[in-house]
Amino acid sequence: MASSYLQIEQVAMDFTRGDLTSHVLQNVNLKVERGEYISIIGHSGCGKSTVLNIVAGLLRATSGVVILDGREVNDPGSDRSLVFQNHSLLPWLTVYENVAIAVNKIFKHSKSAAERHQWILKNLEMVNMSHALHKRPAEISGGMKQRVGIARALAMEPKVLLLDEPFGALDALTRAHLQDEVMRIQSELKNTVLMITHDVDEAVLLSDRIVMMTNGPSATIGEILDIDLPRPRNRITLADDPTYNHYRHQVLSFLYEKQRRVDVAAIA
Ligand code: ADP
Ligand code: MG
Repeated sequence: MASSYLQIEQVAMDFTRGDLTSHVLQNVNLKVERGEYISIIGHSGCGKSTVLNIVAGLLRATSGVVILDGREVNDPGSDRSLVFQNHSLLPWLTVYENVAIAVNKIFKHSKSAAERHQWILKNLEMVNMSHALHKRPAEISGGMKQRVGIARALAMEPKVLLLDEPFGALDALTRAHLQDEVMRIQSELKNTVLMITHDVDEAVLLSDRIVMMTNGPSATIGEILDIDLPRPRNRITLADDPTYNHYRHQVLSFLYEKQRRVDVAAIA
């Protein structure tokens, strides 16, 4: 059987607290090819972050395996970098130092100090943060903090970039701007990306494929949608594009007709 770059095979996840077990995921199967941009979309609480954390190696699946580039994932590793919604920059370090801390660790033996310095600058330049190298997180905006988080993740040259609602906390304009930047960077670097989102437009605009998850408990992958839109993609042109709107409609229909969220409060 041909193997893919990243494979999630028969993953299930149960959380047990005391004598209460919740079955969060079951039968999650996904194959991702190198260079693909995959979005995972689903209602809040269905288990998206759990999937990502299992791929990151932060959580151990109850059953099933994750295989990345032929190796089973059992713990966190620098071949997978994670960017969260709430930027995880160290507040006492500058923008430059926040990227340097990862670069100096990962490339300690493979790059000289001068090469590492250039590499840090290059990655910060890629996200347009060269102007704020010596600022601390408290001195820059939320969008800028996400940029630095992305620069740090990219600088690690991960096999797979894991993004957990990376633009979720940003205002609409900043979000659009960052999405465009990520598309530009992706066209250049051809990273393999697994991104969680609950934003339908974001999913269609950025992805090669959209993985749609069913509601929990025992959530799984309901449908996978191929997004066959040429790149580079322009949000303004696409707004009137029938193919774009067709994809958009399919995701909306999955989320709001097939997987209509059951309001727990209404039952209780
Ligand atoms: P999503 O990212 O789709 O919003 P999560 O993956 O964060 O959802 O959570 C899925 C479900 O698993 C939720 O019901 C959540 O309460 C539960 N869950 C997540 N992490 C834990 C944990 N460490 N212990 C117990 N339950 C958890
Ligand atoms: Mg989540």
